Amino acid sequence: ARSRGGDSICVADPHLRDRAAQRHQIESALLRGIRENEFRVVFQPQFHISDGRLVRFEALCRWNSGELGMVPPDRFIPIAEQTGLIAEIGRRVLISALQEAKSWLQNGRRIGLAVNISPMQFMRPDFPQSVAEALAEAGFAPELLELEITEGIFIRDLNLAIARIRELQRLGLSIALDDFGTGYSSLSYLQRMPIDAVKLDRSFVSDLSIDSATVSMVQSVLAMARALKLRVVTEGVETTEQLSILRELGCDEAQGYLLGRPESAEMALQRVLNSPSE
Ligand code: C2E
Ligand code: CA
Ligand code: CA
Ligand code: CA
Repeated sequence: ARSRGGDSICVADPHLRDRAAQRHQIESALLRGIRENEFRVVFQPQFHISDGRLVRFEALCRWNSGELGMVPPDRFIPIAEQTGLIAEIGRRVLISALQEAKSWLQNGRRIGLAVNISPMQFMRPDFPQSVAEALAEAGFAPELLELEITEGIFIRDLNLAIARIRELQRLGLSIALDDFGTGYSSLSYLQRMPIDAVKLDRSFVSDLSIDSATVSMVQSVLAMARALKLRVVTEGVETTEQLSILRELGCDEAQGYLLGRPESAEMALQRVLNSPSE
């Protein structure tokens, strides 16, 4: 992203003005990005903690903007969400990730794919239909697809969100609640969500060391997940100490720089081919 240095116009709140200008800049660059097809997908592996087996890859969007250069998702996804452009970007991410994932299923390997879906995209009336079409088009096994959603979908209409989750699960896929622990899901709230898995937020894992209070926090989150029969994926695992604590605590799956960084489709396929077949 460009800095807006050199601006000498005096306004009441230069910070706010700057942010609005940046937003606008990203928005117009996004429109061009869609037109010019500037979005790519990288894949980060997730592993079964107990036996180290490769379980699936999470698809992560990358944008090399002709106008702004590389823009990280944390900068452009929120703006794409607010402007509605996420629907088209997300649709393309899903389609191209499924196309790549299809090649993993060769030679008897059953490697899954996780795709991030933003609330706006998830709640669109045509979303389930577009997922069904993308699955059919790619010839990918629905039971190997996991959609990662966030609590944002429950804010407007809880019942509608629940119905939507069920509709998607009927296609055979699974639903994981991302960034778990950062929002306001209480136990009773969580109990009403028909999800299959939770992804424990990176912030918990980064504080995780043998002598930290976070251990007991993670422990109680895991107990809660277990009571609700939810699979637990932890993200942001960077050290062997964190991994061994998570193993000790009985967490199911792990993802993070220690185990594998987001990588190109070619490298992901190599990783699949190098993994033991069943
Ligand atoms: P997320 O879904 O929580 O994805 C995990 C983020 O953590 C990714 O950042 C990943 O590269 C990063 N990460 C993975 N392992 C580690 C680690 O060990 N340490 C640290 N420090 N970071 C790690 P990324 O790719 O920059 O994506 C940021 C966020 O942007 C994602 O957070 C997700 O919310 C959003 N995003 C990315 N791609 C998409 C997409 O296609 N659609 C939607 N709706 N959102 C997306
Ligand atoms: Ca995610
Ligand atoms: Ca996350
Ligand atoms: Ca996140």
